[in-house]
Amino acid sequence: MGRKIDLHMHSSASDGVLDPAQLMRYVHSDCGVDVAALTDHDTLLGNEAAQREAQKLGMVFFPGIELSCQWASVCIHIVGLNVDCQNTQLRAQAQLASGERERRAQRIGERFALLGHKGMFEAARNLAGNKDNISRLHFATVLLDRGVVSSQDQAFRRYLSLGGAAYEPADWPTVARAVELIGQAGGVAVLAHPGRYSLSGWKLDALVEDFVRAGGQGVELISGSQKPFLSSQCLSWIAQYGLRASCGSDFHSTQQERPLPGRQGELPAGIPSILELLPGPV
Ligand code: AMP
Ligand code: MN
Ligand code: MN
Ligand code: MN
Repeated sequence: MGRKIDLHMHSSASDGVLDPAQLMRYVHSDCGVDVAALTDHDTLLGNEAAQREAQKLGMVFFPGIELSCQWASVCIHIVGLNVDCQNTQLRAQAQLASGERERRAQRIGERFALLGHKGMFEAARNLAGNKDNISRLHFATVLLDRGVVSSQDQAFRRYLSLGGAAYEPADWPTVARAVELIGQAGGVAVLAHPGRYSLSGWKLDALVEDFVRAGGQGVELISGSQKPFLSSQCLSWIAQYGLRASCGSDFHSTQQERPLPGRQGELPAGIPSILELLPGPV
């Protein structure tokens, strides 16, 4: 049996539930993952503790990040793998994003207050393991706990996604800037879950073209957070642009209806793998 690989996971440094060391113990012991990357949203904070624990467990570990960006007013996620967590520019971007998350969360709280839901900002902040990284997922969890919605998905559709009643846009860097930052930090840029954006057909092709032009090298062919419906389009990008395929669960907690870490499916044989661009045994 091959190694179990998961290159997209979240800890409580962003919107995941387990702390970085707990996450590594869980994915290793309960899920059998032996090649892992931590990819928290817009923060590098969990990488040191995760790496230390992963090394103790004998795992291959890549420090990572999932950068929020914007492209033609759509929010896009770019994963950086094997980034230098001390890189000044990437750390500066994480700092900026943290301030933007705080501003957005306060505005979302104000919007909820107008809708009659009081104390939402405080409740979301309270749930956040990292007070400098408040996520819309924290708001969704509060709504679910309060019985305002019956699922996370409903929380996003009714309130938190574009068009939702408490939606507040955020000012994220461009895709090209995110790819540049990851490259400057010595990392490999991967387009996260391409099947999850409100883009399809030629618009999605145009996003991938911009991503590649900026220096992007990988794409998540297999992601726990998307249905595998567009894999033929994804395979055509891999062939056309020489992209490498990546795979990850996008795990946040066992509460989500998603494959557990390492269970998102394996990369098909014969497809160039992102691991070939990462250090260590392949
Ligand atoms: P943010 O990074 O604060 O903009 O929040 C986005 C996060 O919310 C994503 O990383 C997912 O973890 C989560 N999310 C987005 N859409 C949904 C959805 N429809 N259902 C559940 N979680 C979602
Ligand atoms: Mn998330
Ligand atoms: Mn994402
Ligand atoms: Mn993610």
